[in-house]
Formats: sequence, C-alpha cells, structure tokens
Amino acid sequence: MKTDVTIVGAGLAGLIASIQLSHIGYNVVCIDYEGEKGKKNDLRSTALLLPSINLLKAFGVWEQIKINACPMQSMRIRDLSDEKNITEVKFHAQEIAEEEFGYNVQNQTLYNNLVTFLKQSKNITVIHNDKFMNVRTRTNATFTELKSGLRIQSKLLIGADGRNSSVREKLEINTKTKTYNQHALAFKVKHEKSHENISTEIYKSGGPFTIVPLAEPKQSAIIWMDNTSKIHNIAKLDSTQFNSAITIRSGNCLGALSRISELTSWPVISQITKNTVKERCVLIAEAAHVLPPIGAQGLNMSIQDIRALANIIEGEEDPGSMELLRKYEKTRIRDSKLRTKLIHGLNLSSISNKFHAQKARSMAIQLIASSPKLRSFLIEKGLG
Ligand SMILES: Cc1cc2nc3c(=O)[nH]c(=O)nc-3n(C[C@H](O)[C@H](O)[C@H](O)COP(=O)(O)OP(=O)(O)OC[C@H]3O[C@@H](n4cnc5c(N)ncnc54)[C@H](O)[C@@H]3O)c2cc1C
Repeated sequence: MKTDVTIVGAGLAGLIASIQLSHIGYNVVCIDYEGEKGKKNDLRSTALLLPSINLLKAFGVWEQIKINACPMQSMRIRDLSDEKNITEVKFHAQEIAEEEFGYNVQNQTLYNNLVTFLKQSKNITVIHNDKFMNVRTRTNATFTELKSGLRIQSKLLIGADGRNSSVREKLEINTKTKTYNQHALAFKVKHEKSHENISTEIYKSGGPFTIVPLAEPKQSAIIWMDNTSKIHNIAKLDSTQFNSAITIRSGNCLGALSRISELTSWPVISQITKNTVKERCVLIAEAAHVLPPIGAQGLNMSIQDIRALANIIEGEEDPGSMELLRKYEKTRIRDSKLRTKLIHGLNLSSISNKFHAQKARSMAIQLIASSPKLRSFLIEKGLG
C-alpha cells in the first residue's frame, strides 16, 4: 500500500491530524489497533480553546459539534485551603473582547463527529484493529509494518499513538517523565444551581477539583485530582457518601452535586520527549507531551502541533524532508517545554498542604484578582 502520510493512532489527535492533512491535499492512511467504537469508555470532556475551534471551523466540522457543546464564558479559580479566608479570581471572556474562551465538548461527541466527517473524505483511509509493529526508513520513503503483515509506504510517518507510543519506542526517542503519586477521577454530575457557563478550578491540597460546564445548564464534567490512595478510596464510596464528598470538595459552589456517570481514573504524569523528529518521522500530541489535566492544555497543545506541521508541509513535494521536519521541531519544542514546565509547577503548588505554599498560592490569586493587566496577560497566554 502506498500513500503520502501514514498516521499511527486514531485517537482525537490522530483523527484531527488526518483531517487537517487531507484538507491540505495529502493522501493519508490512519491506523489504530482498536475498533471504530473503541472510544466508548472515554467519559471525559475537553475544553477546546478558541485556536482549536478555529481549526475545526476551517474543516467545516465545528457547527455540528457545537450543537452539543457548552460555551465557557468565565473561568474561576478558588482557593479553599483557608476556610476563613477563601480567595477567588474570575476571568471573563469579555476582558479580551470575546464572547467565550472556548467550548467544553464530551470526548465521545467529538470523536463521533470527527469519524463521521472523516468517512466522507476521499483521501483518508482508516485501518482499525491492526497494530503498528515497526518502521523502516529509506532515503525517499518510510515503510510501516502492521501486525496483519500489511506494509505501508509513505513519505512521512506521524506517531499520534498516545503516551505509551510504540512509534516513539521504535524510533528510540527518549522521554523525561515525572510522576506525582496522583490520580485524576473523571465523571459527570448534575447540580442544584445552574453553572452559568463558568468553569471552576478549586484548590485545597492534593490537586485541583475542576468543574467544567456541559451543554445542559445543571450538568458539569468533573476532574478530581488527588493522592493515588485517596482517589482509590474515594472511588470505593457508595453513591450517597460519594455525592456528599464531592459536594464538600466543590465548596458547595453549585449546591448539592450528584454523580450521573461511571467513574474513570487516570494516572497523572508529566512527560516530554527530548526530540520530536527523526528521518521521515514525527511525533505529535501525547506521543510527544503529556501534561497533568490542568488549564485545558493537553489536546489544545496537540492541535497546535497539527496546525504547525500543516503550515510547514503544505504544498511541499516531499512532506517528510528532514529540513521541513527540523523546522517543525524548532517551531513547537520551545512552547511544549514551557507549557509542560508551567503545568508541572502549577500541579506541585496544587498538591502542597504546607501552610507557606498555600499562603503563597492564595496571595497569587489575590494579586491576579486585583490586576486587570495581569489577568489579560494570563488569559492570552492560556489561550495559546
Ligand atoms: C482527565 C483528563 C482530562 C483532560 N481534559 C482536557 C481538556 O479539557 N482539554 C484538553 O485540551 N486536553 C485535556 N486532556 C488531554 C487530552 O484528553 C489528551 O491530550 C487526548 O485525549 C490524547 O489524545 P491522543 O490522540 O494524543 O492520544 P490517545 O487518545 O491515547 O490516542 C492514541 C491512539 O493510538 C492508538 N495506538 C496506540 N498504540 C498503537 C499501536 N501500536 N498501533 C496502532 N494504534 C495504536 C490507541 O488505540 C489510541 O486510539 C485531558 C486528559 C485527562 C487525563
């Protein structure tokens, strides 16, 4: 089989990369070892920031996704570590002359819409239930070998195969990984009060408790990060105890919370590769960088990877040339390293139960709350 670009991984990043590269004229083959319905167990939602939405708009896929998405018009950060002196800062999209910072979409909705759209694209072939095994690179092409025995010749191979990337392993690209003895629980809740399109991050100790609004005004997605053994114990609570624990941890900001979905649990890590390119091969998305789920950076950063790569290879006869791939790496690696460091630092500060660290966090929130200039700067940096 012969194509322009082979993409390993049909997760959200691999699907978006396939659509983007076909959009600029390349023939794409995308491979995943799971079946097409393989994302059914992904109960998370993704807060898509404006640059990501602009990309989906350019494909013509956004209007359909938007029907089931919730605009995030304000973002609120609360510190509950000193219950007598709760600090809060609120950011409004109007401060940067926008209606919203982005939209929150359930991953399943995003996935289903991307798959439907992709099926209508003539120059994308998706191969499910087959596994990437190896890649051999020659001067003019890569040869990707699958478990079934199929061999795909292409000018460029993209590894979008997630945090435990086999493409990365075969390319012998090393990672720098930090673990935190921390897990994130993801689930959906309904609540007494309306969320008013506000996304809220609540700090205490152990990690943030994040409430992201869903399309239904009295429903939100929750990410609760804390020490691994605590998260395991919380996950074992019966539903009455669990609902009481989440209402308390939310500081009661939306009234009583009740869980309305299964629970999924994710180990929290921070991981970045030393390089992202090798001859005719490039790593993108979680194959290249994994961040703790704070500040909606993960998939949004991956979409930046995809945009940057597309801008560099568009209209080129040989999209896998080393000159172009080095240019891509130079464009992305600094931003990825910076964001990984920043989110790592934020996560460490969210874990601490030490008085001085909590006091410093609370003072930082007060400072941001009182400075419109600092707020605008942070909003613009956060939106990427
Ligand atoms: C709790 C939580 C909340 C999050 N919230 C947000 C958010 O609000 N905003 C945001 O921007 N990001 C968020 N993220 C990050 C975001 O979810 C991830 O960045 C994104 O889902 C990862 O996508 P991916 O396509 O890179 O990897 P994956 O989803 O892991 O996809 C990789 C694919 O590769 C396939 N694969 C792997 N190995 C092989 C192989 N050898 N052969 C063939 N196929 C293979 C897998 O089957 C899989 O389908 C969150 C993450 C977590 C944990």
